[in-house]
Amino acid sequence: MRLEGIHHISAITGDAPRNLDFYTRVLGLRLTAKTVNQDDPGVYHLFYADEQGSPGAELTFFEYPGAPRGRAGRGMVHRIVSRVASAEAIGFWADRLGSEGVAAVRDGDALRFDDPEGIGHELVVDGADEPLRAHHPEIPDEHAIGGFVAVRAYGSPERSGPLLEGVLGAERVDEATWELRGERRGGTIAFDPPPAERSLQGAGTVHHVAWGTSVAEHPLWDVRLQEARVGATRVIDRYYFHSIYFREPSGVLYEIADDGPGFTRDLPLEELGSRVILPSWLEPHRAEVESRLTPLPDPRAGWPAAAA
Ligand code: ZN
Repeated sequence: MRLEGIHHISAITGDAPRNLDFYTRVLGLRLTAKTVNQDDPGVYHLFYADEQGSPGAELTFFEYPGAPRGRAGRGMVHRIVSRVASAEAIGFWADRLGSEGVAAVRDGDALRFDDPEGIGHELVVDGADEPLRAHHPEIPDEHAIGGFVAVRAYGSPERSGPLLEGVLGAERVDEATWELRGERRGGTIAFDPPPAERSLQGAGTVHHVAWGTSVAEHPLWDVRLQEARVGATRVIDRYYFHSIYFREPSGVLYEIADDGPGFTRDLPLEELGSRVILPSWLEPHRAEVESRLTPLPDPRAGWPAAAA
């Protein structure tokens, strides 16, 4: 049984309007769902992804309005690595980020930058998997960001490796890097030495990384994790998919998520992200709930008709 690389990555924002602008307008991802936090319906849970909302490209944010900045330290993901198709695409992004005033550092065929709240990103040229891209009128499709390749976390390879290899079926790539590759796609996690300062969960930090599996194999992972006694939750229904959570030995929060039923359970593909999605028990109170949420535009509302 093999995991299918990174399913999604979830992080925290204290500034949803700026976050939405950066990920949809600047980076060109698609807002595939604008829902509320199941545990706190006064704030958003935002999902950005490729055109179809595919596992492998979903970056989600929990909104905590005005939350102070966090700091990535031991046990936290500090960089999200995504693919582009070519060195020309790296050049395109260096220019585009520069014109937006985003400090980006080019290192050969890689480009590193932070989001407005400090989440580290890296674009690399990668052709190992099919690109998962969204359309954007200002971004040529061949240069669009194409889904996750890897995460880098602060932690200890010696402590984190045995669970990756012995329970999660990962293969060691080098001293500090493991690959989780299934039949459809793969992804890696690398561990870097933690900084001296302790970690602080807050705005601009990653909360957890989810590894993908199929609907059919998800219950088997539940069994395997219970047998391995890694302190995993049982299966939780996250509405768009099913989840199991556990903390790995360096402290990084892992999730194992399946492929179903996906974002089109609420809206047809062409309308994803256009309205706030509420759990059925909140639907009768929609007006009241929406009045308490930070107003956010539909990022595609102003697009020329031909582009949408
Ligand atoms: Zn998650």
